[in-house]
Amino acid sequence: MSETAVGGQVQSRLDQSVHRPLGKAEVLTEAHRCLYCYDAPCVAACPTHIDVPSFIRKITTDNVVGSARVIMDANPLGASCARVCPTDELCEGACVLGKDAAPIRIGDLQRYATDWVRERGVDLFAPGPPTGRRAAVVGGGPAGLAAARELARMGHEVTVYEAQAQLGGLNTYGIVPFRLPRDVALWEAEQVLKLGVTAYTDTLVGRDIPVEDLVRNFDAVVLAFGMGGVPPLQIPGEDLHGVWDALDFISKVKSGQDVGNLGGRVIVIGAGNTAIDAATCSKRLDAGQVTIYYRRTDREMTAYPFEYDFARQEGVEFRWLSAPVRVLGEGGRVRAVEFVKTQLEVSDYSNRVSPVPIPGTEFTVEVDTVIRATGQSRLTSLLDALGVAHDDGVVRVDPQMRTNRAGVFAAGDCSFRRGAGDAMVVEAAEQGKIAARAVHRHLLAMDESEQRRGASHG
Ligand SMILES: Cc1cc2nc3c(=O)[nH]c(=O)nc-3n(C[C@H](O)[C@H](O)[C@H](O)COP(=O)(O)OP(=O)(O)OC[C@H]3O[C@@H](n4cnc5c(N)ncnc54)[C@H](O)[C@@H]3O)c2cc1C
Ligand code: SF4
Repeated sequence: MSETAVGGQVQSRLDQSVHRPLGKAEVLTEAHRCLYCYDAPCVAACPTHIDVPSFIRKITTDNVVGSARVIMDANPLGASCARVCPTDELCEGACVLGKDAAPIRIGDLQRYATDWVRERGVDLFAPGPPTGRRAAVVGGGPAGLAAARELARMGHEVTVYEAQAQLGGLNTYGIVPFRLPRDVALWEAEQVLKLGVTAYTDTLVGRDIPVEDLVRNFDAVVLAFGMGGVPPLQIPGEDLHGVWDALDFISKVKSGQDVGNLGGRVIVIGAGNTAIDAATCSKRLDAGQVTIYYRRTDREMTAYPFEYDFARQEGVEFRWLSAPVRVLGEGGRVRAVEFVKTQLEVSDYSNRVSPVPIPGTEFTVEVDTVIRATGQSRLTSLLDALGVAHDDGVVRVDPQMRTNRAGVFAAGDCSFRRGAGDAMVVEAAEQGKIAARAVHRHLLAMDESEQRRGASHG
């Protein structure tokens, strides 16, 4: 293991893309395979409804700027999505060619067009004529940026408040660099700022600025603050040195910070996409043996199949039906983890398979580093401060992303309900767009009511 986690060779492994970009000739061959279906199923399968046949056709006529405009018009996060969308389950999964042959590589073509404009510094959109209305957005991740971009294009004055030093949310700080480089996320944020959007970074709403001030000072507020850190395992010893929150760990690595020496044995607890990202990141940091422990089996794991395959290719090992009982330390540092074997039982009430510990099957694994990756907690304080209705931190919204409080909207992971599909960048982008349209209608209604009041006083 290298002394500095982000030393030269290690850094280049972290930056080495999982997926190589297509060359120009491959792009053209792939684009010419498209049948340009009328009523194309890929468009319906894309949560942001990008006009896929149209952007692909524009690539064949060498109108790459036009192609990127089609993509980014429908999806303000189109460059990130080209890399991180689970395309097998979305657009490419719906491609009619997929029945008999390989589907069109829509994600790769989308990447080609968006990389092309990004690398050449092409700006795609302009702000709308000023309306005199002001909106605040809490959180500068995919949902907040999508809402801000749409509102600015409608001519509203938009201010984004972001707790982190840079915009982009999990695209900048959460998704591993070898799947989504920071440059791509930051370019998308820059495109939004170029529309005249103001952003205050390093600003935690609720601490640095009261959320009620936003409601008072703006005509509308969009809550897009995502979810919180990894919840505690609630077992003894998890505060020992060498036990990481997966999101903190990935964020430090992605920001180029030193995470110290991980040692030769890393275990990751959990088996969702965050766990896979933490495990593959550790592998690329030269951690030696990296093992994922999960209390259920591969059938129940929430990571996408392609991520599971990728982790195995990177050399990550998996142990199923094992739940952590306590973390053991020496001199304040983690030394081992005690697990117990589990068996799956179907709950009488919910039909859900639950892991049940089997007494007497405890075993201990010697480790140097433990990474907790068991989902994300919910942020409730702003919601309570605003009197916005929520279910254990999941904001209650109607189909237009309106909360119970007039003038307050929500989008993205903060309103993501478990069991309602996957939390994805493309879904956050779409919800940001929907929220922006609802804000626009709300602001028009404010104008009309002020005009009516003015007329009745006149
Ligand atoms: C490790 C990991 C890997 C993932 N991989 C994928 C993937 O491969 N493909 C995919 O589609 N999706 C993936 N996702 C999911 C995807 O990243 C999220 O669904 C998406 O980022 C949600 O966007 P958001 O804007 O709602 O939230 P976030 O991206 O979390 O952004 C919320 C922003 O709000 C800010 N904030 C929070 N509180 C405050 C406050 N009080 N004041 C000001 N700012 C605040 C935060 O700092 C953050 O920047 C992954 C998630 C994780 C954790
Ligand atoms: S945004 Fe994602 S789902 Fe939509 S077309 Fe692009 S890669 Fe496919």
